Amino acid sequence: MARIVMDDLHKVYPGGVKAVTGISLDIADGEMIVLVGPSGCGKSTLLRMVAGLETITGGTLTIGERVVNQLEPADRDIAMVFQNYALYPHMTVYNNLAYGLRNKGVPKPEIDRRVQEAAGMLQIADYLDRKPRALSGGQRQRVAMGRALVREPAAFLFDEPLSNLDAKLRVQMRVEIRQLQKRLGTTSLYVTHDQLEALTLADRLVVLNGGQIEQVGTPMELYRRP
Ligand code: ADP
Ligand code: ADP
Repeated sequence: MARIVMDDLHKVYPGGVKAVTGISLDIADGEMIVLVGPSGCGKSTLLRMVAGLETITGGTLTIGERVVNQLEPADRDIAMVFQNYALYPHMTVYNNLAYGLRNKGVPKPEIDRRVQEAAGMLQIADYLDRKPRALSGGQRQRVAMGRALVREPAAFLFDEPLSNLDAKLRVQMRVEIRQLQKRLGTTSLYVTHDQLEALTLADRLVVLNGGQIEQVGTPMELYRRP
């Protein structure tokens, strides 16, 4: 768990596109921040900068005690959940969850404990021996979440994780993500286009526009009448 501090972050892509321009945000330990805003406003770029998947061209990003500007993704202690699941098709659910931990040299009993615990929380314990193709969309999405969970990271990053699911499942999963995030108390950044998803999940909403923060506040603060 960790506080995340963005101090005057900038991203200029090679070629000159200014995707993020002077974003400062102090995210409390355990807080769920939802990023919203029109297409092209910089949501994905900001998330990928926190993940270490994009370089930071200006400003300072601190996760926990450390300035992480120059750190590789693996050294940032964060885990990202993508909309396209990014599961390994040839591996069982168990191995999809265990793979990253094995690569990190986590001992086998510890891997087993984490996989079983995550599978229990996500209600996929009965499917550990299946391959992803034998799962429903919702189950695959749970496996993708499980891969993030087993890392026991300081922070979760969610990039529109529910956008491939049907409407009913989206509603169910957003409630479950909310409960899980509160139970684990893991600082989270969540990008979505879906306004109800944003309102359900957010401790605070951050509205981006043109690479800058337009508004920040709790759902109550942003949606009460003036
Ligand atoms: P959002 O996620 O809110 O839709 P993005 O972060 O994807 O916004 O994009 C922000 C801006 O940066 C847009 O103008 C987009 O065209 C541009 N952009 C995104 N990725 C790249 C890239 N790899 N190279 C150049 N420009 C990019
Ligand atoms: P796995 O992809 O199964 O986790 P690794 O641990 O070898 O396997 O990950 C390879 C690289 O991808 C590392 O830099 C790791 O930090 C990064 N990575 C993999 N999965 C995630 C994830 N869910 N969130 C953030 N980074 C990830």
